[in-house]
Amino acid sequence: MEKLLELKNVHVSFNTYGGEVKAVRGVNLQLDKGESLAIVGESGSGKSVTSKAVMRLLPAKTSKIKEGQILFEGKDLVKASNREMEKIRGAEISMIFQDPMTSLNPTMTVGKQIMEGLRKHQNMSKGEAKERAINLLKLVGIPNPEVRVQEYPHQFSGGMRQRVVIAIALACNPKLLIADEPTTALDVTIQAQILDLMRDLQEKTGTAIILITHDLGVVANLAQRVAVMYGGTIVETGTVDEIFYKPKHPYTWGLLASMPKLHAESKELLAIPGTPPDLLNPPKGCPFAARCPYAMEVCVEHMPEAYDVSTSHKAACWLLDERAPKVEPPEEALV
Ligand code: SF4
Ligand code: MG
Repeated sequence: MEKLLELKNVHVSFNTYGGEVKAVRGVNLQLDKGESLAIVGESGSGKSVTSKAVMRLLPAKTSKIKEGQILFEGKDLVKASNREMEKIRGAEISMIFQDPMTSLNPTMTVGKQIMEGLRKHQNMSKGEAKERAINLLKLVGIPNPEVRVQEYPHQFSGGMRQRVVIAIALACNPKLLIADEPTTALDVTIQAQILDLMRDLQEKTGTAIILITHDLGVVANLAQRVAVMYGGTIVETGTVDEIFYKPKHPYTWGLLASMPKLHAESKELLAIPGTPPDLLNPPKGCPFAARCPYAMEVCVEHMPEAYDVSTSHKAACWLLDERAPKVEPPEEALV
């Protein structure tokens, strides 16, 4: 497979009154063309910051990519000029956010909003752009596209609005679509429909997808690979099967245990006790050590390296060192 995106040792910090918040600390990630990757973690784990770094959408005054490379088709986006990024955004990489209302302009018809990118990036005539807008609305499953292309965002339901946002994001056939919690604001049945639509579109268009979510449940249907983030670092990456059936990191075990089970007798969810690390003063060792039931002395003192479990599976945990005691995942983590 051909590589599309590669993050190498990316560090992102925010300047706050309290000091430097080290939100992303040494992230390494890879994505092939047409592949779908889910980045999973609780809020504050660094997943949104990582994706905003790729889009270079971090606030310029208060944040900084301190170190590392973000290679998109070999080109380092960390070093790209604002002008180059403007060309890439929307045309090569597009992003959709949780709340469709914030990304839509309430004063403009949805048709005009889809046409904007086409006119800007692809030099289409008005007529061509309008035709493409109607086709895109059809593609994302909006009935009556010839009529609805003239309507305003408030005339659409929440789910239909998110479909419009997806149509805008796909308008210029981007190579990469980053979706940050795209279904969190929607109710459960609509969520499933939007995820089905995204999977469908990915098959049809070949666009690579990065899905950012706190919910492992939505991952299985859409992603091929998963990266689990904690405390600004990636603690485990693998194929969906590896993460669900052979998880190695105690934090991933905790996430799996906190997932609602289809056939479980008790409906009680097991939350992971404790709170995430303070990234103003990040721990020098494993970020999960303070909450990990298996923590050893070495964990507090030294950051574990990412151990290879298979060619596609890595986990950053001292338990994978050959000198560590053998520990099996708890029963609640078994899917
Ligand atoms: Fe737990 Fe240590 Fe593994 Fe961190 S490195 S997850 S503290 S066992
Ligand atoms: Mg977020």
